[in-house]
Amino acid sequence: MTAKKEIPFGLPMIGEAERKAVAEVLAGTQLVHGPKAAEFERLFAARLDIAHAISVSSCTAGLHLALHIHGVGPGDEVIVPAMTHVATAHAVEYQRAKPVFADIDPQTGNIDPKQVAALKNGATRSVTAVHYLGLPVDMDAIQTAVGPDVLLVEDCALALDASYKGRKAGRLGDLACFSFYPVKHLTTAEGGMVTTDNDKIAERIRNMKAFGYDRMLGERKVPGVYDVVNLGYNYRMSELHAAIGVAQMARLDEFRARRRANFDLLRSLLSDLDEVFIPVSPGADFDSAYYCLNAILPRDGSVPRAAVLEDLKSNGIGFSVHYPAAIPQFAYYREKYNYCPGMFPNAEWYGSQAISLPVGPHLSGDDVQTIAAALKQAIVRAKKQ
Ligand SMILES: *Cc1c(COP(=O)(O)O)cnc(C)c1O
Repeated sequence: MTAKKEIPFGLPMIGEAERKAVAEVLAGTQLVHGPKAAEFERLFAARLDIAHAISVSSCTAGLHLALHIHGVGPGDEVIVPAMTHVATAHAVEYQRAKPVFADIDPQTGNIDPKQVAALKNGATRSVTAVHYLGLPVDMDAIQTAVGPDVLLVEDCALALDASYKGRKAGRLGDLACFSFYPVKHLTTAEGGMVTTDNDKIAERIRNMKAFGYDRMLGERKVPGVYDVVNLGYNYRMSELHAAIGVAQMARLDEFRARRRANFDLLRSLLSDLDEVFIPVSPGADFDSAYYCLNAILPRDGSVPRAAVLEDLKSNGIGFSVHYPAAIPQFAYYREKYNYCPGMFPNAEWYGSQAISLPVGPHLSGDDVQTIAAALKQAIVRAKKQ
């Protein structure tokens, strides 16, 4: 066997600064409720130019809290895209409410505002707009589709530093949730952030992420004495995680520049491939976070994805699949709500034929050339099968 260079889909960018930051926290006495989470929140809010950034244990925790503080419950409906991470829909299920799936716009992969308008009814309490792979949703169109009385949540798990009409993702709805899972734009190992300009929402999130105490640690007159006024959760971020986040904040400009250059190069190298559709930005108002490049094979299955993936894998090319199926096709949702194939044609196309190629800051230009060449070769071979 020849030793081939493996190109991973994602790689957490952990360096000396992150290791040192964690060691410093461990050398001290404060592992939660400390200055690192506060500093991380300040830096994050400043980057988005938003009033509040509240650290949480994951993006999923943030999505759950968003619906929890809004009182979403049994009998309520929340509109979510049919093509997203399952966490977007699970957050609705945690509240015993019903996720109502909207198909996506096949040009962008984002939730289709026309579908949202058609699905909205008296039971609709919230809509979650997921900026698919970092490309911002047309938030004005979503706002128009649902009207002013519906809570507008952004799932920004893959949208750090994306912007829409000159405003950053994370400040385009009532509140937003970010993810710091290892292969996202910034990592804290596990972690998330909720952002909002609304003081009331911020206060409710802070309360509910820490058991529903009536006062925070620093506000207690007698240590250890508090009342509990809400059914809150423990969704806090530790000082260790926050310390990694603070170190990563200093590198975001560099990460973004590299992602963007890799994305542009890969897109141009694949531009002559007739078999591949690449979701496009609708215009200058939509600036992506360039999470990865989605190469989508034909709807008719003439190039089977499984064969292409097998080929890439054998050549050491890392890839991912966003996402392995439209959410209504996952067993839990399919069986609970009786979904059939064909109900979400665009999301199902992406779910069966999309391949996510890496563009992360861990890649060199040569790596991108290798990826493009490997994909072209894999498609030729898959068509012959
Ligand atoms: C990764 C991801 C999540 C979940 O984030 P966690 O921090 O792992 O909870 C939610 N939504 C989208 C779109 C994601 O990509």
